[in-house]
Amino acid sequence: MVGPWRHPPGTLRALRTILGHHYVLCHRCRRFADMVIPRGMEDRKYEPSPFRCRHCGDRGALETAVPVGYQRDTAD
Ligand SMILES: [Zn+2]
Repeated sequence: MVGPWRHPPGTLRALRTILGHHYVLCHRCRRFADMVIPRGMEDRKYEPSPFRCRHCGDRGALETAVPVGYQRDTAD
């Protein structure tokens, strides 16, 4: 038995909790990274995505799967 959802819908927290792990994709660069929600950002709306590609500045798409041919963005 679960208690009532005490967080607002449409947030990054809701996305992660309900749908599980997400990736941030940049379709222009064909790169992806694990979605990591910085502390304090859990209640940000996920639409539009608050993540941006650090290479091209495009808005990152939040997906549960990575398309074939996309490369993990590892450089930090
Ligand atoms: Zn990009």
